[in-house]
Amino acid sequence: PEEAEVEALHHADVAELLPRPAAESDKYRRGVVGVVAGSARYPGAAVLAVAGALRGGAGAVRYVGPAADAVLAHFPETLVHAGPPHKAGRVQSWVIGPGIGDESDALGEVLAAEVPVLVDADGLRFLTPQQVRSRTAATLLTPHAGEAAALLSHGREEIEAARLRSVRELAARYGATVLLKGSTTLVADATGPVRVNPTGTGWLATAGSGDVLSGVTGSLLAAGLPARDAASVGAYLHGLAARRAAGSPGAPILASEVAEHLGAAWRDVV
Ligand code: AMP
Ligand code: MG
Repeated sequence: PEEAEVEALHHADVAELLPRPAAESDKYRRGVVGVVAGSARYPGAAVLAVAGALRGGAGAVRYVGPAADAVLAHFPETLVHAGPPHKAGRVQSWVIGPGIGDESDALGEVLAAEVPVLVDADGLRFLTPQQVRSRTAATLLTPHAGEAAALLSHGREEIEAARLRSVRELAARYGATVLLKGSTTLVADATGPVRVNPTGTGWLATAGSGDVLSGVTGSLLAAGLPARDAASVGAYLHGLAARRAAGSPGAPILASEVAEHLGAAWRDVV
């Protein structure tokens, strides 16, 4: 029989996949996320990615980058590090890219780590297929249509007109899991059906919401979910949180409010 092209992730699947702390859990066993994000120009991206990571269930978040003051002002829970990523201590996953601008020095080092890595936003600008293909741990790329177009050297319209084919092509070319953002979010591996997220809402089309998604999904990677599951559960929670934040009937929301509603989204699922 021919393999199904797409599959939906159902509420019950998400409930099953959500990591819950065991009675004897400690913060390290729940997962530590390293976040490389933000720059002098875009400090807010660091704050939003850390917000997503903390509320995504990580035991701890290590922040590496130039926006430590802004991050700590919002989240005193964060462990901040001034040096390069390898000096930051152990992490179970890395998130790199939101708001880093041209500061790509850390990318090679993070990709050399033997833990799952999520690459988003500006991080995607400096990535080569070879770099990703030679990794031993999972790599998850989270482009929107414009970023996907740059990765494939296509036009943005070509991506929008063929989203299913594009996400598959990206996954095959990079040997990675790919989450293609947009009005419907798709998650693909090099083989197998593409997962379609059912929880999105147009209210998510607001600055910074992608940075929050990076953090949430990084947390799920640190908890040990396979990249495909981390990506689809991350998108699912992110969409529900946005709906919670927007209310019914809906109203405009801020990316920081999406992060704040992740707990409510979590309770909706379990
Ligand atoms: P970014 O472009 O990186 O800021 O990410 C935007 C986030 O909002 C992603 O999670 C998108 O999937 C989501 N998003 C953007 N536009 C829409 C839309 N029209 N409907 C549903 N989700 C959207
Ligand atoms: Mg983005």
